[in-house]
Amino acid sequence: MMRSMLLGASRSGRLRRTVETVPVTRNLVARFVPGTDESDVVRAAGELVDDGLTVTIDHLGEDAADRNQADAVTRAYVSLLRAMGEAGFGPEVEVSVKLSAVGQALSGEGTAVALDNARRICAAADGVGTTVTVDMEDHTTTDATLATVRELRADFPSVGAVLQAYLKRTEADCRDLAYEGSRVRLCKGAYDEPPSVAFTERADVDRSYVRCMKVLFGGRGYPMIATHDPRIVEIAGSLAARHRREQGSYEYQMLYGVRPREQRRLVRAGERVRVYVPYGAEWYGYLVRRLAERPANMALFLRSVASK
Ligand code: FAD
Repeated sequence: MMRSMLLGASRSGRLRRTVETVPVTRNLVARFVPGTDESDVVRAAGELVDDGLTVTIDHLGEDAADRNQADAVTRAYVSLLRAMGEAGFGPEVEVSVKLSAVGQALSGEGTAVALDNARRICAAADGVGTTVTVDMEDHTTTDATLATVRELRADFPSVGAVLQAYLKRTEADCRDLAYEGSRVRLCKGAYDEPPSVAFTERADVDRSYVRCMKVLFGGRGYPMIATHDPRIVEIAGSLAARHRREQGSYEYQMLYGVRPREQRRLVRAGERVRVYVPYGAEWYGYLVRRLAERPANMALFLRSVASK
């Protein structure tokens, strides 16, 4: 119930304005979001790369309200990719894009606008020798997002797709996407979905995650195991061994600020680990989703407000 409430709060404009005026939330924000500017995130990415990690950068924001906003987000990505090239990054630092941020939710022309903008971002990424992963949003967008990924892959085969283990359809989607060269990020899923389409019990989501990993590790693609769950990380390791996968033929992914010691432990064990690093002014929805995932984060937040 707390999770549903918080996910509702992540969409509340009034609550957002209240929270933004509480200065003590800044420490909590900084733990999950290294800054609002391009230079902040390029610096943070450099530090992670120095520690042996790889990175995917997300320009925060979703649901562009009009074409201008969608185009502005696209320009921000193109500018970021230029800055990444100037910083000397290659494929070790890529970007993650939400299609709703580049126009998918616009009525009528949304899918076409998002495809056009995503193509511009992919071309900019290609120009500096890196790639793009298309984030997955709520289940009403799954088909359109996978169709867009298919179109993008025709020109940019390394574009990554994201699948959410909480959706009942995902095991089948994993089978479709487990082909040679196909980069697939598997996550549990972050939205509040109805039982008609999603597993709602934690144990069922975890079981689905393991079934999906079996398909991805047994296939010919490149699995990207996006989770902080120690049990799932351990099972991923066993599956990689069972399928004789070399380190580097798959990767782990975790969020910036979440289990940083575990990220470095995996790197020391020879694994490839990618950190998802968000930046930008639109941190509110992202932060509230992280709070919804972990009561301990919520307690940290309440303590910081109480001690103001
Ligand atoms: P949970 O079930 O939240 O946690 C399982 C266990 O992990 C916990 O019991 C605890 O042991 C450990 N753990 C979790 N958080 C912490 C913490 N803060 N500190 C210490 N231990 C912790 N979702 C989408 O819907 N679409 C996307 O495109 C998407 N992209 C993502 C990309 C990346 C790289 C990652 C890591 C996640 C992404 N997500 C995305 C979010 C994802 O769907 C989950 O909501 C989120 O990762 C939490 O699930 P979990 O697998 O970490 O496990």
